[in-house]
Amino acid sequence: MKTNRNDPCPCGSGKKYKNCCEQKRFQSGDENRITRLLITAAVGVFLAIFLWGVIEFFATDHPEMEYYKCDNPNCTIMHSRPVTGSN
Ligand SMILES: [Zn+2]
Ligand SMILES: [Zn+2]
Repeated sequence: MKTNRNDPCPCGSGKKYKNCCEQKRFQSGDENRITRLLITAAVGVFLAIFLWGVIEFFATDHPEMEYYKCDNPNCTIMHSRPVTGSN
């Protein structure tokens, strides 16, 4: 049997079901909590990897990069390559 959304809520609050426990069900449902947990975890992992990448970038020596245009006259991309030290 399905509770009509416009019926008084079965919890006895006197509100309509759609304004009472139906919303609570959506807000604090287990599925919702798991989804939020997963999103939080995913964001955390993403931030950790991102931070690690930034730290790695500044911690390791990188060859000096120079920007150049390639031979293709229609190419609008600025290419980059390591500067070849001719010493
Ligand atoms: Zn209720
Ligand atoms: Zn190009």
